[in-house]
Amino acid sequence: MIFFGTGSANLDSVKTRNIICQHCNNQDTIYINIYRKHAHVFWIPMFPLGKSGSSYCTHCKETLSPKQMPEALKMQYKNIKGEAKGPIWQFSGLLVLALLIGFAIYSGGKDKENTQLYLSAPAVGDIYEYKADNGSYSTMKLEKVTSDSLYLSLNDYEISKKSRLYKIDKDENYSEITYGYSKNEISQMQKEGIIFDINRD
Ligand SMILES: [Zn+2]
Repeated sequence: MIFFGTGSANLDSVKTRNIICQHCNNQDTIYINIYRKHAHVFWIPMFPLGKSGSSYCTHCKETLSPKQMPEALKMQYKNIKGEAKGPIWQFSGLLVLALLIGFAIYSGGKDKENTQLYLSAPAVGDIYEYKADNGSYSTMKLEKVTSDSLYLSLNDYEISKKSRLYKIDKDENYSEITYGYSKNEISQMQKEGIIFDINRD
């Protein structure tokens, strides 16, 4: 399947002035067409590639590429091409990409914000994702909160990839035993990156 390619948009069709068609000798019958190419991926235009064009005579239908144009015609072609503006939709892909990146940055920031919020106002049931000494990852579940301490039960399982933590975050994996940490200890662990994310349903 071809998913990358080029397309083009017609920008302008402008009538030339004082040009005599070298083929049929009529005057003011030649128009210049300008188009701009763009690269597309999955038929979404990504970005423009450059302008090009041709001339055609409305009387004899002769079309000329820029290379074939006589000097006077070529001059007009260059001016018209220079002034032709391409449509913004040829940037659609780049605009979509910029939006996606913006959204990723926004949601990443939101996630960090939430972690700070959950840390300062802990709630029973919060899941703390942490890095174990051996380099694996696991989770702890907040079971009890007092004025200065948090009591967490440890997950019986560890996993080697952060992104797979959701696989072991199951109720039956948390042990009955809870461990108490002072709030200061927990916030220190978060600062050091040992606790790297807190999730709340
Ligand atoms: Zn002609």
